Amino acid sequence: MALLITDECINCDVCEPECPNQAIFMGLEIYQIDPDKCTECVGHHAEPQCQIVCPVSCIPLDPDHVESREALEQKYQRLIRLAVEPAVTPVNAPVTAPLKAAA
Ligand code: SF4
Ligand code: SF4
Repeated sequence: MALLITDECINCDVCEPECPNQAIFMGLEIYQIDPDKCTECVGHHAEPQCQIVCPVSCIPLDPDHVESREALEQKYQRLIRLAVEPAVTPVNAPVTAPLKAAA
């Protein structure tokens, strides 16, 4: 289950940098959470970090995005793969520099 930010948000900016998945972003008026990126912090922390730091406790579970622990772990694995792939690509890229001639 992802979390959501209610309209009680006071835009204090505290939660956004705490999210390990970069799931929190500024919406039109208040911060929002991308349910495709929120794992409830599964894979990173024992507790949802945004809930811990929010001074007005306006980050409940999102009843429209109910997910099992297994589904959250799969989402975490998918996000990790997406984060790693750009760094892996250059390693697999063809070698373009000229090779030294054997001595
Ligand atoms: S619960 Fe964790 S992953 Fe989800 S928005 Fe909050 S900090 Fe990000
Ligand atoms: S910590 Fe709470 S009040 Fe502050 S920006 Fe995040 S959701 Fe809004």
